[in-house]
Amino acid sequence: MTVQFLDLGAAYRELKTEIDAAIHRVIDSGWYILGPEVDAFEAEWAAYCGADHAVGVANGLDALTLALQALDVGPGDEVIVPSNTYIATWLAVTAVGATPVPVEPDSATYNIDPARIEAALTPATKVILPVHLYGQPANMDPILAIARAHGLRVVEDAAQSHGARYKGRRIGAHGDIVCWSFYPGKNLGALGDAGAITTDRADLADRVRVLRNYGSRVKYVNEVQGVNSRLDPIQAAVLRVKLAHLDIWTERRRDIAAAYGGALKESNLILPSVPAWAEPAWHLYVVRSRDRDNLQKNLSEAGIGTLIHYPVPPHMQQAYAALGMAPDALPIALQLAGGVLSLPMGPHLQLAQAMRVSALATAICPKADA
Ligand SMILES: *Cc1c(COP(=O)(O)O)cnc(C)c1O
Repeated sequence: MTVQFLDLGAAYRELKTEIDAAIHRVIDSGWYILGPEVDAFEAEWAAYCGADHAVGVANGLDALTLALQALDVGPGDEVIVPSNTYIATWLAVTAVGATPVPVEPDSATYNIDPARIEAALTPATKVILPVHLYGQPANMDPILAIARAHGLRVVEDAAQSHGARYKGRRIGAHGDIVCWSFYPGKNLGALGDAGAITTDRADLADRVRVLRNYGSRVKYVNEVQGVNSRLDPIQAAVLRVKLAHLDIWTERRRDIAAAYGGALKESNLILPSVPAWAEPAWHLYVVRSRDRDNLQKNLSEAGIGTLIHYPVPPHMQQAYAALGMAPDALPIALQLAGGVLSLPMGPHLQLAQAMRVSALATAICPKADA
């Protein structure tokens, strides 16, 4: 039995009739930029997230970059970012000319540790940018309290957390702007690049709406120096089909996570730790091992696909060499990068496959006393 890390083809096959019809509806309509399909997806995504507004953009990195621009973040400003994240979070900050100020994670949840944020604030801090990593919500209440106390804005990187809940409420409008990616491998994934922001603030939704379309509200009238980062209506039509299945697919992910959690108890792996207030979207099921590389190699030889999210933290990437940060300047991020392994996870993974992965992983990494 071989097990793919993620079977995107299966997701398409399940919904092929509906997706093909949606794509042809757009092609037949003759309307290929923005328009009714994008408007409809924006309304449906905002409603799903419990936010007043959604604005579709070209991808998740643009969602983050335009969110920071809408908040007038630029050169001289500092943005608090997690040390432990995908590099896109940092790239958005540097794209607008601001400086990323990394804060280490809580070593149980891997998300930014609110208790460490205050020490990182300076008079130049403008935004706190938490990431809901692996689909698990960051601890928003203390983050929002710090932001309120210091007059800061909060932008959330929700690229991995479609449908996740914090204290019962869906991620989508806890902070000032929430940024989404619909990259194909995300929990809600298009058939290409796509992204969006959600927010309760009409003024910020309006700014992103203008920025994504050449800084223009009315054709050939350009209010600001915008970009071309529009959500493609074909992708919007595909996303509308998939959105109707998102909750069922998230439930399947939750069942798989529960199966892994039970079956891996006899291994020496460190399993995900979920606070009582969190309902993760289970984008990834990430375990930790002192012997990670050996575990990955042995699983691979048995036909099991795994990935590492992420092998090199942003502060150690060549892209950020100019920041001059030593690897052990952020020891928790460094340690996580050396130990994390993402097991196969997705709505089309069979429970029997998850049990097979668990049995192999347990045999490779047994409990010392087993
Ligand atoms: C995927 C991802 C992004 C970027 O999304 P794209 O659509 O690929 O630009 C940003 N942040 C995180 C945490 C992600 O996982």
